[in-house]
Amino acid sequence: MILLQLAHETSTAIDAFRMFMITIAFLIALVLTGKINLGIRIPGVSVPMRRDRKIILKEKFPFYAKLSDENKRRFERKVDHFIYSKDFIPRQIEKVTEEMKVLIAACAVQLTMGFPNVALSYFKRILIYPDDYYSTISKKYHRGEVNPRAKAIVLSWRHFVEGYVHNTDGRNLGLHEMAHALRIENRISNNEYDFLDKDIQNKWEQLADEEIGRIRSGNSRMFRDYAGTNREEFFAVAVENFFECPQTFKNQMPELYHNLALLLRQDPLSP
Ligand SMILES: [Zn+2]
Repeated sequence: MILLQLAHETSTAIDAFRMFMITIAFLIALVLTGKINLGIRIPGVSVPMRRDRKIILKEKFPFYAKLSDENKRRFERKVDHFIYSKDFIPRQIEKVTEEMKVLIAACAVQLTMGFPNVALSYFKRILIYPDDYYSTISKKYHRGEVNPRAKAIVLSWRHFVEGYVHNTDGRNLGLHEMAHALRIENRISNNEYDFLDKDIQNKWEQLADEEIGRIRSGNSRMFRDYAGTNREEFFAVAVENFFECPQTFKNQMPELYHNLALLLRQDPLSP
């Protein structure tokens, strides 16, 4: 009797263990195939991007569609990492949607594709407003800004979206603000600073100063007047044009275009 009961209990324990192992194996399979994402990242192990995120990229981010299959995988990994490593904070909106996270991350990755280990890691927070917002510091309405003190990138969602809807007019709020963040990230001493090649950057500043001079004297070859404000705004406007109208940029200012492609380690005309 006791022996029988023991045998019964042992087989129940084996069954339970078997079920447990099957469940674990099933969960691992779901994670590895990207069907579910537990939000856990194991160093060195790359997990495929979640399907819903991929669909957003495919349908709403043309830059991604033009990439080779290999670069698509790299792009996805960087987008996942960006989303994972930032706090997305809603301002005057109820919540930050998955689409907002994916498209803002994709914008940052578009700019940093040439740098495998750069994720603008100094900036911990992405603040999202529905529209332009009043800044109590500048006493003005803003569409976006980069705030190093708050470690934040701030965006008006309406203007962010418009930047990609009109994607050949050389105006893109997201890329503009990410470009500011990139230059700051390069200067602030942390785990990913000083990644912009110094010689190429020196050449860039020299070419930028020449073009800023032309803009200020009313002889801009392509960029809007705002690019003449200073080196930072010049770089941000150049980045907008680099991705939105690369062919015109290359035709009008081949040396600047070539230098920016070297600096960012990518060329939108041959992705
Ligand atoms: Zn700016």
